[in-house]
Amino acid sequence: MEKKILLQVKNLQISWLFDKALIPIVYGVDFNLESGKVLGLVGESACGKSVTALSLLRLLAKELKIVNGEILFWEHNGGETIDITKLESRGKDIRKIRGGLVSMIFQEPMSSFSPLYTIGYQIMEVILLHSEISKKEAQERTIELLNKVGIADARNSFKSYPFEFSGGMRQRAMIAKAISCNPSLLIADEPTTALDVTIQAQILNLMRDMQHEFGTSIIFISHDLGVVGQMADEIAIMYMGKIIERGPTKEIFKNPNHPYTIKLLDAIPRLGNLEARRRLEPIRGSVPGLFNRPHGCTFNDRCDYFMSGICGASFPELKEISENHFVACYLYG
Ligand code: SF4
Repeated sequence: MEKKILLQVKNLQISWLFDKALIPIVYGVDFNLESGKVLGLVGESACGKSVTALSLLRLLAKELKIVNGEILFWEHNGGETIDITKLESRGKDIRKIRGGLVSMIFQEPMSSFSPLYTIGYQIMEVILLHSEISKKEAQERTIELLNKVGIADARNSFKSYPFEFSGGMRQRAMIAKAISCNPSLLIADEPTTALDVTIQAQILNLMRDMQHEFGTSIIFISHDLGVVGQMADEIAIMYMGKIIERGPTKEIFKNPNHPYTIKLLDAIPRLGNLEARRRLEPIRGSVPGLFNRPHGCTFNDRCDYFMSGICGASFPELKEISENHFVACYLYG
């Protein structure tokens, strides 16, 4: 079957404007996302995954600038290709894409709901903005969506304010808002991090159902490789603003190659390890600050395989080591 690319990110570079200087924080990120597939973006805090995601909708803070690269989005219905980097960040073209073709769900639902309006009103507002239906139809669609995401007594919950919902219910309502216009792409930034494991499992199931029902593509961002592994078809691991390993999920779990990926996998609790009373292996050290970026491979000060004279010279290229499996490390090739 022919693969349909929905999103192609090419050599994306983002810098932070600080004291009149541009400090690079995302260094030439490349990835593709096929229609109907889930891409997991994984890494520790401050590795650039959320900044990359926000740039896809031109939602970056004003001190953050896209300095190079392309974000190509294929609008399948109209057949048009849009380079999102060329759009005005406050213009009408990107506003048409936000919430319509591409939606985002955040870790903290209150960042997408105002405390002053009812949940139903705020979802209905998005529907009315992106489609030509009557207020009555938008209200019925909102109630249907609240029902779909498992909000009990959706007709009455429509009139509730965000503070009247529990954390799990707010997260569900945010998903209802995000999928209200059947987006082609849903960006989920740490959508389950603040939730307990039971609600986390329910939210993951819900997103999976939505993906199957509407064929939505998803970019699922998390620091937790275990959670991403349950959702993603393909995984990209980020470290200090670069993708250092990328490949199909099964392959990454079965055959991780980059020392950082291996360490991330070692840090996931597994049933076998618990039974054998094996300790979880933490990754030594921490991610260096922006102003202490190591020369060469940025993982070199934490890597057990550091090769003197090689790893500190320049950053290794991302190379394909098996079909669709890419690694940036001098141990390979
Ligand atoms: Fe470790 Fe060298 Fe590979 Fe970097 S390039 S991950 S320092 S072996």
